[in-house]
Amino acid sequence: MAEGRVYACSGCKREIVAWDEGDPYYLEYPGRTKRYAYHPSHERILCTHVDIPVLCLACGAESVCDSARPLEACPVCKEDSLVNTFQLEGRRCPTCGDGVFQVDRDRGIIS
Ligand SMILES: [Zn+2]
Ligand SMILES: [Zn+2]
Repeated sequence: MAEGRVYACSGCKREIVAWDEGDPYYLEYPGRTKRYAYHPSHERILCTHVDIPVLCLACGAESVCDSARPLEACPVCKEDSLVNTFQLEGRRCPTCGDGVFQVDRDRGIIS
């Protein structure tokens, strides 16, 4: 079961929806095609990597960090300020530079 959270900035109200697991995938041979397993199924046990959504705290760009080839810096601004979107609690918002992200506890999402 995946757990989702909504983070909301206390300043500009920017919202980020985050999931605890990211998107698990495996590589299908030949060709090494990425196959995502979104639902619990037999495919899930084949998954060897995961794509994790990250937020750049420097410029506010959202990117995807592939566990097979982790991002070392933001692809947009080149800053080393990437944070897993599931761990945004208390982080300063890069959009307004003023507020911080807090979990919106009234809108926890479980799927
Ligand atoms: Zn903000
Ligand atoms: Zn950036």
